[in-house]
Amino acid sequence: AKRMRLDKLLANMGCGSRSEVKVAIKQGRVSVDGVCVKDHGMTLDPESAVVQFDDERVMYQEVIYVMMNKPQGVISATEDKLDQTVIDLLEPVDRVLQPFPVGRLDKDTEGLLLLTNDGRLAHELLSPRKHVPKTYEAVVLGDVAQEDVESFAEGVTLDDGYVTMPAKLVVNGQETLESGAVQSRITLTIHEGKFHQVKRMFESASKKVTFLKRVAMGPLKLDPALAPGEYRLLAQTELAPLL
Ligand code: URA
Repeated sequence: AKRMRLDKLLANMGCGSRSEVKVAIKQGRVSVDGVCVKDHGMTLDPESAVVQFDDERVMYQEVIYVMMNKPQGVISATEDKLDQTVIDLLEPVDRVLQPFPVGRLDKDTEGLLLLTNDGRLAHELLSPRKHVPKTYEAVVLGDVAQEDVESFAEGVTLDDGYVTMPAKLVVNGQETLESGAVQSRITLTIHEGKFHQVKRMFESASKKVTFLKRVAMGPLKLDPALAPGEYRLLAQTELAPLL
């Protein structure tokens, strides 16, 4: 197995910055296989060594998988000159392994976003050939009717001439607004991810999406306990079906 420096391992596992962990090691707060170690440059096999920091076991892992309920107003990117990004919402310890968002949600879209540093998984989930289903809940201005359900099931033509793959549209309810306009609450599952796809599918039906939230991506479902802006690590039971 490949060896790794002790200070690097501790910093990567979120125990502190590289210089903070060096100090901690000098202070005798770190042990390897039960022996106190004061040489921060020591190398070890991160898979097999038992590393303790202040008597707490530091488990080594190279990969990170985060489920976030992306809030509106935040960009699904790692950096942006103007706006807050989903990475900015992570605590510093959760940024150490450099997760990135798997795909994009629009700035005004909320809901399920997976962040990981596992490039292979990201590639699998985003591959256009895999047709990973994505489910959205939306509020749409207008009367979403049976004819829309049928045309979405057939495929609709977007503004650039692209014909979408069959998509499942379910109308959950309708309300009349004070203005007299009707809005519909819908659930839509698509198997591809064209730019602004959901909004453009409704535009092709002359209807406007006023609220959009992703609730599922492949086997992964948004945890309803996560408020917008909150996140947590994926549970083993959620990760296994993805890998
Ligand atoms: N479709 C959209 O129009 N926007 C999103 O953010 C996701 C899907």
